[in-house]
Amino acid sequence: MTHDFFRPVSGFDLPRFAGIPTFMRLPHVGLDDPRISQVQVGLIGAPWDGGTTNRPGPRHGPRQMRDLSTMIRAENGSTRVRPFDLVRCADLGDVAPNPGDLMDSMARMTAFYARVKAQGIVPLTAGGDHLCTLPILRAMAGDAPLGMIHFDSHTDLFHSYFGGTMYTHGTPFRRAVEEGLLDPGRVCMIGIRGPAYDREDRDFADAVGIRVIPVEELFARGTDDVMAEARAIVGQGDTYVSYDIDFVDPAYAPGTGTPEIGGPTSWQALQVARGLKGVKVVGADLVEVSPPFDPSGGTAFLGVTLMFEMLCVIAGRLAADAAKTGAA
Ligand code: MN
Ligand code: MN
Repeated sequence: MTHDFFRPVSGFDLPRFAGIPTFMRLPHVGLDDPRISQVQVGLIGAPWDGGTTNRPGPRHGPRQMRDLSTMIRAENGSTRVRPFDLVRCADLGDVAPNPGDLMDSMARMTAFYARVKAQGIVPLTAGGDHLCTLPILRAMAGDAPLGMIHFDSHTDLFHSYFGGTMYTHGTPFRRAVEEGLLDPGRVCMIGIRGPAYDREDRDFADAVGIRVIPVEELFARGTDDVMAEARAIVGQGDTYVSYDIDFVDPAYAPGTGTPEIGGPTSWQALQVARGLKGVKVVGADLVEVSPPFDPSGGTAFLGVTLMFEMLCVIAGRLAADAAKTGAA
């Protein structure tokens, strides 16, 4: 098995507007394909928005993000990282939800990601709404609670909605802490803003020791300083990265269900992703891109560009670890 199989199709061999759009023009390698054992980073679609409480649509996110991901090239223009040279990447396809059954959808997702984890593959997911992250964490945190760096305009830490509904895209991290999937002392949430129903989520964060960095503090301190703190909070332990596109100001990312005014620019959105360098990222996602609200495709393009930034960090880390241990 040569590494060449796992390289994206070049725009010089087939124009980037042509061909079947897999994530970043990578080969499609399903979980039952024997080549799955060679994959180090798997790009996965989670086309499910059963946790959405307001404007729906992220179930269509993976398909539009695959299309816009054909804009991605081989080298990161800022960091100079060439992720597809460093690690074997593939599009693992979509996890299949059950659109009529929320609990079954989560069970199906956890089973899918358990198989990904068993192969030693780092999953990089395109959502889907933010409830998708909960079944992923259930699979990824099998051995011990994970740290997490979370970019969002919302904490998604609420106890429940509508007087007792426990599973929505506003509650995944409350459940994750309750279930012992996250170590709250190693969780940092960045970019929080906007009008709120109440402070119940923030009170919970304070009570369990989750560090919440509101957008005012991010702007006052700058992205580099805040990311240095985030790296210190998660340390060198296994860490998940969850990136909600509504972290970004709706001027740059209008295609999402729950936008909040006064957020970071697309430039700052890239900078915080680059600031993950050095973190032991065991999985990451980019969620809440809603194509029905994204007729230009610009939000999906920003989403896949942020996935590429996270991929560059993951690939750099895996390559550095392999060099240390002498593994190929
Ligand atoms: Mn969210
Ligand atoms: Mn959000």
